[in-house]
Amino acid sequence: MIHVNQSLPCPTCNGNIQIDVKQLLEGTAFHCPNCMSVIRISTEAKDIIKNIKLPEGPGRSGGKK
Ligand SMILES: [Zn+2]
Repeated sequence: MIHVNQSLPCPTCNGNIQIDVKQLLEGTAFHCPNCMSVIRISTEAKDIIKNIKLPEGPGRSGGKK
């Protein structure tokens, strides 16, 4: 399964920022404990993620063309 608790390298001080991937994807901002830099996913990336559709089971899409 996917581990949602991960750490990212801080872009400012290169320290570890503990993040929850799920919250990050929901737009939650996370602070670096060392330098208080805020990281959050960009709106652009959020749109990209929103457009990702997980494959559904076979025969579920229905409607042939
Ligand atoms: Zn930092």
